[in-house]
Amino acid sequence: MSGSGFKKLTIKEAEKHIGGRLDRRRKYFLWNFHDDGQPIVCHDSTFLVACSGCLEMGDYGSVLCSGGWDEKRKMEIGCGCEECGYTGVRRGHFPVPAETIR
Ligand SMILES: [Zn+2]
Repeated sequence: MSGSGFKKLTIKEAEKHIGGRLDRRRKYFLWNFHDDGQPIVCHDSTFLVACSGCLEMGDYGSVLCSGGWDEKRKMEIGCGCEECGYTGVRRGHFPVPAETIR
């Protein structure tokens, strides 16, 4: 555990840091978002990506193994493997700066 630039916050700590009210359904943490040594309050957001375990992109953008175009998700998905539970997609996480509720 290095913990550099990352610190989990309780909702009360997060609200104190940001100086306002926050959406209590989210989980907050301090994150060195701008990479300037000044961590700010962020929450976790998720996005879907094609599984890197089963969507193989060849040279020149050719797809070696693909589950095809997923119209609902508007993305090319993998053909399915153990890593993604044969869905062809995986959930990624990224921090988003928290915003107070007005
Ligand atoms: Zn996969």
